Amino acid sequence: MIDADRLRAAYDSDGFYALQLEVGDKCEQGCIYCYMNALPVVKNSLSDELISGILSDARALGIAAIEWLGGEPLLRGTIFEHMARAGALGLRNNLWTGGLPLRDPDVAGKCVEACKNGLISVHVSSVDPRMYKALHPAAGEHDLEDILAGVERVLALGYPASRMLNSVTFTGLQPAGDMVDTIDYFERELGIATSLNVYHTYLRPGTDPGDLARFVPAPPEVARVFERMAEQDGHGAIPMNCVSKQYCSATLAVLCDGSVTPCATIREPGAPNVHVDGSLFTIANAHRDHLIIKELKDPANLPGSCRACEMGGTCWGCRSRAFAAGRGLLGKDPRCFRHQ
Ligand code: SF4
Ligand code: SF4
Repeated sequence: MIDADRLRAAYDSDGFYALQLEVGDKCEQGCIYCYMNALPVVKNSLSDELISGILSDARALGIAAIEWLGGEPLLRGTIFEHMARAGALGLRNNLWTGGLPLRDPDVAGKCVEACKNGLISVHVSSVDPRMYKALHPAAGEHDLEDILAGVERVLALGYPASRMLNSVTFTGLQPAGDMVDTIDYFERELGIATSLNVYHTYLRPGTDPGDLARFVPAPPEVARVFERMAEQDGHGAIPMNCVSKQYCSATLAVLCDGSVTPCATIREPGAPNVHVDGSLFTIANAHRDHLIIKELKDPANLPGSCRACEMGGTCWGCRSRAFAAGRGLLGKDPRCFRHQ
């Protein structure tokens, strides 16, 4: 699913490989741990004209893949037109849907077509209906089964399981065993791998900051989930990043309010914005070193415990978790259970 040669070339040349593009914040899945405060109604979104220009800029920047994000990207009426254009520009379409829209056979079919050169990811943090309800209190009675049926529909249309992912967010609200059961279910029943993210420590606006503690998973719980993920990947151990540090560096994001940041989960106040600071092409070149987190490419700038870590070839910790914890973009990942 990743063009390893292009990713390596992008990292080695201080370039970009992937653009995370938030087309709007509307979402109906209601995850209580949502890092971007998605809402059931649109509050922020990028115009069609802006998205069109961003895709052209992405190509000009040498980007290989568009990570289509929301909210729920499939709730945008023009999403398939944009994905078709991205495909025509030679960009891979990686779709990150919650999964609920796949209950519509027409939508599922269009996703299969649009993502034939990329991937389709859904979001099911638990396959236990009681746990799912706890993580999505506003969910409809049949949401979980509808998402799973949508996944099976996509597979039945001939889309390969090897191009699908279940993207999960692990929080302290969920026992590690339940997350492991969910990873097991997707792998054994559907042949689909899991993409793991550990809670980024943001809370929805208006939430009591003291509420944060219950969202933060304990280190042994994180370690247990990582152990299962290592088994999936078959590489012995996996980085703390949701991806490799190379992918983390070579990714940039345009948020639904127009901000341009190193990652969609890094929501920096005062970030350059495509509404006021020029095109994505202009901003990406003017702020390249920040967007690729260039300082960390020099081992001398890594957080102390990362400098001699055995995972250093692929890991530098999640920059978003360090940022959200107030340690700065270059700080130590607070969820690392290996070396503190
Ligand atoms: S900052 Fe964190 S969430 Fe974003 S790409 Fe890097 S590791 Fe993944
Ligand atoms: S110490 Fe740093 S490099 Fe090692 S696993 Fe933790 S975050 Fe990754």
